[in-house]
Amino acid sequence: MSTEGRQLIVFLGAPGSGKGSLSRMCVDNLSWVQLSTGDLCRKHLAEGTAIGKQIDSAMKLGTLVSDDVIIDMVIEWLEEQQAGGKTIIFDGFPRTVVQAEKFFEIVRFRFPHLAISIIELKVPDQEIVQRLSSRLICSNKSCQRVYSSRDARLKPMVDGVCDVCGSALIQRVDDNPETIKNRLQIYHRHAGELKTVCKKEGFRVEEVNAQVPTAQLFNQLKQEYGSL
Ligand code: AMP
Repeated sequence: MSTEGRQLIVFLGAPGSGKGSLSRMCVDNLSWVQLSTGDLCRKHLAEGTAIGKQIDSAMKLGTLVSDDVIIDMVIEWLEEQQAGGKTIIFDGFPRTVVQAEKFFEIVRFRFPHLAISIIELKVPDQEIVQRLSSRLICSNKSCQRVYSSRDARLKPMVDGVCDVCGSALIQRVDDNPETIKNRLQIYHRHAGELKTVCKKEGFRVEEVNAQVPTAQLFNQLKQEYGSL
């Protein structure tokens, strides 16, 4: 299949802004493909790989993993995806200026067929803290489906059990009050500069109010990009 003009949508937004849930809906309903660098990092941790050992403390503290490690993961993932033509979603990458600059350079030279769109999901910090404090994820590293113990729309059918694969639901190690505060600070520290780089590279950052049900965001996105 030709990959001419293949769409790549980057979701920017704080942890808990709904990037993962929206991506999941796109994957399930539109067969898009998703790269979540956070999911990849958690997989490395769970499998105890060399990378997993290297990123262990950053993940637990909610600080960022080194740009080089993340960029290598992204390049490897993009190379594996070369043969497909489905729209790609990036959830959680790029997160720093270095990652963004490197990403745009890599796309220009190695993946020039990718047509990038950038969408920022906006949610106030107060709401983020509530969302993350009540977030549960599936403990199965190949699933990592996200639920909420607070939001009725995101509750599992059976308490503590994943609807999809039946594994136990757990709280992420980094979803505790202290780490949440830390991650939000880190997000805000990088977000402004990150968007400046995107704009300097000629991309519009489309801002979306993400304080609405994920299904509504999904419908908006589908209308705009769904035929691609
Ligand atoms: P997330 O699931 O996106 O909230 O990511 C969870 C954790 O994985 C982050 O707190 C970081 O430790 C690490 N991580 C994920 N993506 C990145 C990235 N693009 N740059 C640096 N660290 C990342």
